[in-house]
Amino acid sequence: MSEQCVFCGHKHLSSKTTRYIYQKDEQMLVVEHVPCLECTFCGEQYFDALVLEKIENDYQAITDQQRQPQRVMQVAVEDFAALSL
Ligand SMILES: [Zn+2]
Repeated sequence: MSEQCVFCGHKHLSSKTTRYIYQKDEQMLVVEHVPCLECTFCGEQYFDALVLEKIENDYQAITDQQRQPQRVMQVAVEDFAALSL
């Protein structure tokens, strides 16, 4: 593979799947098993533009209620300044 990590310059990127979190306004869409290339040195992940477009379209379809997500998960939200540990 001729790809190179633009982050650290490492030359080996491996094909993986990962959890992608799409965020827009106060909404989030979590997509599991998204194909990506991951730098084996620094862990930076690269996504194909088509993959991201697909996720964005799906987010839009869910927002417009044309599609139901497979499941809905609850997310806890904190402000770092409020953390006591
Ligand atoms: Zn890298």
